[in-house]
This record gives sequence, C-alpha cells and structure tokens, in this order.
Amino acid sequence: MTQLSFDVQLNPRARSAGEREEVLANPGFGQFFTDHMISIDWTEGRGWHDARLQPYGPLVLDPATSVFHYAQELFEGLKAYRQSGGSIVAFRPHANAARFNRSAARMAMPELPEDVFVQSLELLVQTDREWVPTTDGHSLYLRPFMIATQAALGVNHPSRTYKYMVIASPAASYFSGGVKPVSVWLSTEFTRAAPGGTGFAKCGGNYAAAFVAQRQAVQEGCDQVVWLDAFEHRWVEEMGGMNLFFVFGDRLVTPTLTGTLLPGITRDSILSIAAELGLRPEEGKISIEDWQSACESGELTEVFACGTAAVVTPVGSVKGADRGWAVGDGTPGPVTMKIREELVGIQYGFRPDTRDWIHKIC
Ligand SMILES: *Cc1c(COP(=O)(O)O)cnc(C)c1O
Repeated sequence: MTQLSFDVQLNPRARSAGEREEVLANPGFGQFFTDHMISIDWTEGRGWHDARLQPYGPLVLDPATSVFHYAQELFEGLKAYRQSGGSIVAFRPHANAARFNRSAARMAMPELPEDVFVQSLELLVQTDREWVPTTDGHSLYLRPFMIATQAALGVNHPSRTYKYMVIASPAASYFSGGVKPVSVWLSTEFTRAAPGGTGFAKCGGNYAAAFVAQRQAVQEGCDQVVWLDAFEHRWVEEMGGMNLFFVFGDRLVTPTLTGTLLPGITRDSILSIAAELGLRPEEGKISIEDWQSACESGELTEVFACGTAAVVTPVGSVKGADRGWAVGDGTPGPVTMKIREELVGIQYGFRPDTRDWIHKIC
C-alpha cells in the first residue's frame, strides 16, 4: 500500500461553529468550501512530493502556467455521507481513483497511486468532519483535481510539473422540493465527444465545449442538453454531466461505453444492482427515432439520468429541432424511484452494503 506522509497545517482562521452552522443551514451546491484543502506536487524525475493539508485559500500561479493556455486539467467528483449511526463514509472512492488515473493517462498527466488518492480524501474529510452535513439527503461533495503547473508556452510536450488538489463543499439535496422530471434538448448542432477524443476522461475541456449547447437547451425551454454521437447525431450518448438509462418494462438499457461517454460510477452501480431489483440490465445502442417511437407505443415507460450530484433524475420530455415528445406521464416512474431509493439507501446506510462499496472514513 502506497502512502505519502502529509504535512498538516491547520487553519488558524477556521470558521466558528456558528458560522459553519449558518452555511450548513442552506449550503446549495458548490458555493461554500470547508476550512482546509489538500495539495500534492509532481515534478518530472521526482514524482509526487510536498503532500500537505493546508488552509483553504487562493493559489498564486504564473500567468504563463500551462493549464491556463492548454487546459491540461482533470477532475473527479464524489461525496462523503453522514450515516445514521454517525460514521462518515465515501461511496466507491477507489472507483474514482481508478477513473482519475484513466483520465490522467489520456491527458498525458502523471497517475496518482489509488491509495494516495483515497488517503487524501480521508485526511481532508477527517479534518473537516464537522462540515459533513447532518441534514437528510445532504452530503459533503469532494472535488479532487489536477492541473498542469509548468510556466511555459511551448506546445510540443506536456507540462513537466503538476499539482493535485482536493477541495470540499457541503451540498444540499439536489431536489429540494421532491424529485422532478427534467426536460431535455437533443443537440444536433454540437458534439461533446468524438472517437479518439477525450469523452471518457473527466477533463474540464469537455465542459468548456459544452456550455454553448447547454445554453441553447435553456433557450429552447429545456433544462438539460442530450448529447448524440458525432457522426450521425442520432445515437444517444449522455445528458449534460450525467449518464442515461431507458426502462422498457423490466429491461433496463444504457448506452454502451464507446470511448465517447463518461463511464459514470453511478451508471456502473445501477447496472450492478439492477438484477436484485428484478430488472434485466443491458448495454446497447439507442437512436432518437427508437426513443420517440418506443415512448409513443408505450414500450418505453421511463427514462432517467444518473450521476453523483443528483443520483437519479427522471427525464419527462424531449425536444429536438424537428420533433418533441413526452416520456411516461411526466411524473417520476416507479423503476426510477426504486433505483434511486436503493442507491441513496446504500450511501446513507439504511440499506445493506453487500458489495463493499461503502468506505468508512471516520
Ligand atoms: C462525472 C460525469 C458523469 C457521472 O459520473 P458519476 O461517476 O456517476 O458521478 C457522467 N457524465 C459526465 C460527462 C460526467 O462528467
């Protein structure tokens, strides 16, 4: 087991219990951060070094730092949950560590030993454990990321130095007023990812290129954009930053991981628990024509998106440049809700964790 030794610098200006409670009363998502952060540096030849926990605060970087120019960057997202017995746990953090390294390989960035990734989360959560909300459905969102830090504009090689960091942000339940189906816009004008590109990597560049399509979805009166394949703009890939599932009676279908989709850990978890819930999980191809006709024939009863932030979100209606249709009756379907309850149940500890997905932190 690889472990680094972390230098611990506690924050002399850590917020008081009162200030913290005020934030935790209404945390929103990604707006407030805890008192500490993790930083580990990497240099060619020397590897990972200077691991530390330090007060949360701004970075000072040279304007020539390569991440600002060439976007050599990647991130992860997972949550720490306070379970009913009081323990604080993470959900499948080793899966995030493995995905972090697959993203790193694609972005020509150094890999971080999985144990060090998990160790860094543990240290931050232990130190800032008072920031893990106690409110039902709330959690502490963890954001590990890595940036290229070499101050040089040459484009013929990747950066020779990097910084890995973890920050943490208390998060309210995504659906404060109950689970509500979203409306989606089929993007035929823009492409998120193409074969050979970075679609499977959790890198900021994928998001930078997606905002214009998300804005178009909103202009079309929809909540979210649905991405289609790059060649035919016909095969369904993902919804915004979430994976999609299609419910045909007891058949549960999700688009195959072709390299252009982000391999969600929530997606993988749902495929794994589906059989126990009486469903037949399968990976396959779904075209927008099939999506529409199966909704109209009543064969396709529910569609939902899944990801760490919102867990499971029903899709209620679909709109494209030349078509539009409803999914189900516009209310969250029974299969969607059953899967949601099972996953949330495992995360918060009121359903058994039979797969060793729950990683106790403190
Ligand atoms: C992070 C992400 C997901 C969901 O992954 P989870 O591990 O389930 O949170 C899906 N699609 C995209 C584009 C993402 O960035």
